[in-house]
Amino acid sequence: MALPPRLLSRLADLVALPSVSSALAEWNQSNRAVVERLAEELNAAGFTVRLQTVSRAPDKVNLIARRGEGEGGLVLAGHSDTVPCDPDAWHSDPFTLTEREGRLYGLGVADMKGFLALAVEAALEAAAHPLAAPLVLLVTADEESSMAGARALAAADLPPGAAVVIGEPTGNRPVDRHKGVMMERLRLRGRAGHASDPAAGRSALEGMHELIGELLALREAWAARWRDPRFRVPVPTLNLGRIHGGDNPNRICAECELDIDIRLLPGMAIEPLRAELAERLSAVAARRGLEGDLQALVPRQPAVLRAGRLAHRRPGRAAQRRAGRSTPPSPPRPPIWPPSAWTWSCSAPATSASPTSPTSMCRSRTPGPGLRHPARADRRALSGAVSRRATIAPSPRSRP
Ligand SMILES: [Zn+2]
Repeated sequence: MALPPRLLSRLADLVALPSVSSALAEWNQSNRAVVERLAEELNAAGFTVRLQTVSRAPDKVNLIARRGEGEGGLVLAGHSDTVPCDPDAWHSDPFTLTEREGRLYGLGVADMKGFLALAVEAALEAAAHPLAAPLVLLVTADEESSMAGARALAAADLPPGAAVVIGEPTGNRPVDRHKGVMMERLRLRGRAGHASDPAAGRSALEGMHELIGELLALREAWAARWRDPRFRVPVPTLNLGRIHGGDNPNRICAECELDIDIRLLPGMAIEPLRAELAERLSAVAARRGLEGDLQALVPRQPAVLRAGRLAHRRPGRAAQRRAGRSTPPSPPRPPIWPPSAWTWSCSAPATSASPTSPTSMCRSRTPGPGLRHPARADRRALSGAVSRRATIAPSPRSRP
């Protein structure tokens, strides 16, 4: 593969630095090493580099690197974290950048350490010349879980760029819309008792079994009610991402919780959906003598169309419209470098394979031997997971 050695070496370094983010505290890791690796090169190239603390435990930081002052210019943006992974499903160490059959494999290579490595390469090349407008690199923390990095960045009130390229994997097609997202925790509480006497307790786990049936029916109902062919997956989705309940085979399960991820189409209002979930939850709880509660794991977000105020517009088109001149609509164009001031924000298909986070799809019903705890296992514990998000492109063996 004819890629510059400096670029490959940077990507290999980024892949070798684990930066998993997860709604599960025990899987959640710092992203600082990744951000500092990028900051080092940008700093040496004359960028003004700032690390913005997002949280302290674990240590999460955003990177804001800028060359040139004031508003306008080009912003290259990406996230530094990855989803967790299943080590036994990988064909190579996910923390070692590996080339196989013309593709590069490693956790986060496609989503989106590959883009970060490319963005720095482009920035270094650009910085060797005088710049007519600012060039800014934004690297966020926690996109795969709480999105706290993006919120901290928005709160920082930075000068706006004229255009932004967000390098999520979209098969090199500009994408200017994004489904909404809700990540919810549904919890049922019952009463523990000895397994030999079912009447002694109230099983939260059996209640969750019933609730899952309700959720799958709800998913079918939503898919029948809403459809938008502008999206690759034209219906709303509801993924059962994580479940935990009980402590021992011979005890009636007193508490069970389920984390789900919902992707909303434009037009789907959040509050009625939340109310539908709450209604199903409380109906199951009432039928089984349980208590139920519903909690948002991240702020609920509606769908976005035309993300970014300059989406798919050339510079000056807004001014032309204000002046009353009509301009024909611009045809879609492939992304090029320099990106000629087109704005394209992108969404990645949620087709990853880890069962540990509501952002990813569960492959196995029970954790296999590969699903070790990252805090107590070696680095291979986080390696693995055949994931389309973790490769430049899916190999035939890695397709779900
Ligand atoms: Zn991503």
